Amino acid sequence: MNIILFGPPGAGKGTQTDNIAKNFNLNKISTGDLLRKEIIKKSNLGLEIKETIEKGFLASDSIINNLIKNILANKVFFNRLIFDGYPRNLNQAKNLDIEIKKTNQKISCVFSLNVKKELLIKRIIGRETCSNCGLVFNKFFNPPNQKNHSCESKFLQKRSDDNEEILNSRYDTYLKETLPILNFYREQKLLHEIDGTRKIDQIYEEIRGIITSLET
Ligand code: AMP
Repeated sequence: MNIILFGPPGAGKGTQTDNIAKNFNLNKISTGDLLRKEIIKKSNLGLEIKETIEKGFLASDSIINNLIKNILANKVFFNRLIFDGYPRNLNQAKNLDIEIKKTNQKISCVFSLNVKKELLIKRIIGRETCSNCGLVFNKFFNPPNQKNHSCESKFLQKRSDDNEEILNSRYDTYLKETLPILNFYREQKLLHEIDGTRKIDQIYEEIRGIITSLET
């Protein structure tokens, strides 16, 4: 099964994707993480991407579509993918459709995590990511502790695009570019809208129930 998770920045896509990937044995594909890896390399492409991300805009479709094409062609991932933050616009969604069909795979379901902007700001400002294990925490809602995190606290980092000013731009981009995709998946009867304002476990339980019902 292949799954897509949507939501505005700070909706909890990364956290829920990690849970789903672990419990259903899927491979997480976060285009944001892949782009940030390119930035760390400090390549020319990385520098270009950094500028785009820090304005809250989308990276170019050609960069993203190429990344995804390679992933879908990889037999190791066949029908075992969960996408976090992809597709981000209608062009990418249509491209994904084409590549999925070409490789004889299918999208099983699409989740949209709905969260109002006021809450997103708090989630974004409090977000910390562990550069060692990749886990994401929030100092207000889900702080790291000895039970949920085994790495040293020096690895906890804030993302350079996690501030209120860039969030405004990322949110506008989401409304303008990403929201229109929801209709695309609604029409294909793949879309499940989820209340993303609840606790992490409650949200996950709802998602888990839906995925389990697809498997039976
Ligand atoms: P994320 O980690 O998903 O919040 O993404 C961080 C940033 O990376 C976004 O604000 C975009 O600038 C860029 N990005 C991530 N995924 C995509 C995508 N599928 N298409 C274009 N840009 C993306």
